[in-house]
Amino acid sequence: MIYLDHAATTKSDEETIQVMNDATRNFFANPSSLHDPGIAARKRLNVARRNIARYLGTEKQHILFTGTATEAINTVIKGTFFKHPKKTIITSNVEHNATLNACKFVKAQGGHVITLESDATGNMPLDELEKVLNDHTVSLVSLIYANNELGTIIDVAPINELCKKYQAKLHLDMVQGPAHQRIKLDELDIDYASFAAHKFYGPRGVGILYFKAKDTFDSLIHGGRQEHQKRAGTENLAGIVGCEHALGRCYHNIDTWEATIRANAEIFLETLKKNNIDFRLNGPSFSDKRLPSILNIGFKDQDAQIMAFKLNEAGICVSLGSACHSEVIEASHVLQGIRVPEAYIDGSMRLSLSHEETKTDMIKVANTMAELVKSGECKK
Ligand code: PLP
Repeated sequence: MIYLDHAATTKSDEETIQVMNDATRNFFANPSSLHDPGIAARKRLNVARRNIARYLGTEKQHILFTGTATEAINTVIKGTFFKHPKKTIITSNVEHNATLNACKFVKAQGGHVITLESDATGNMPLDELEKVLNDHTVSLVSLIYANNELGTIIDVAPINELCKKYQAKLHLDMVQGPAHQRIKLDELDIDYASFAAHKFYGPRGVGILYFKAKDTFDSLIHGGRQEHQKRAGTENLAGIVGCEHALGRCYHNIDTWEATIRANAEIFLETLKKNNIDFRLNGPSFSDKRLPSILNIGFKDQDAQIMAFKLNEAGICVSLGSACHSEVIEASHVLQGIRVPEAYIDGSMRLSLSHEETKTDMIKVANTMAELVKSGECKK
């Protein structure tokens, strides 16, 4: 099998699974309990929080564990709205549904949300952003840092500068970041960031919310005093320890992993080109500021669903848009948002690479895709 859906979920290595099993066995007690096993669990949680913070370039008092990145994103958006119901929230049209639907909820509660249109590469036009910041009292700007469908990486510094100028908080959905880049949160100097462990070879069930200041957002989940009293509920210690281990693996291996991914992505694109078929790379070009791991390919006049089905039969796993959309049969809002031409949009699919594929794998994938196009089996 050639698995090219790492932007949906990555696979934990055996060591990470072992670390989680050991944590389940050795730190079984509730981290809030006062007896020795509880204290041991609490200490282990503190160590994990400190290490995760360090890997993300910040300190442990800024790290809050959630169940998913979706929950972290919802916490920032709804938590800001609950705190400042009269102020405006700004987002973009190429966000993950976690952001778009949290914003939809805010609107349904009477809140004011402005969704800006990104440009054809998935970037936010700064003049548009400034105009809206100038015209409204904005509490929050929430943007996707590394686009999960296109690979676009936004330029944070000028956006952050504008947010500071107009006293708006900046949240970045950084879910696709840590598997491919060392994230330096304190250096970025943003207000919030969201992450999910299963996107960087950790387990599902662990999200991370980075927050600069505790008093800028309201809690969504009330109960015990866990997580800086901002997110109640007994912590998923084994998952958090798995997250720590997986993030550490990324942190230490990222340079060699990224070099492999870039080389494999290049050979894939070259092989596809050599086949003389009509396709386009949706979103940023390969040399733009982007994740080389996410390639959104549009095949002219093809049906990507049929192609994905046939690729699956050939042992090649890809995705149409983002995984969360795959039961809904309509062009992804992101591809629509960046205005992918009509002839290519239905023939678009996302490949998301890891360091584990070989050059031979990528050549095979490109040639299999080209053969499917040439055979006419996937024609719309
Ligand atoms: N944001 C981005 C950019 C994503 O890629 C995803 C998952 O696909 C999410 C948010 C939501 O993550 P989760 O489903 O783990 O909560």
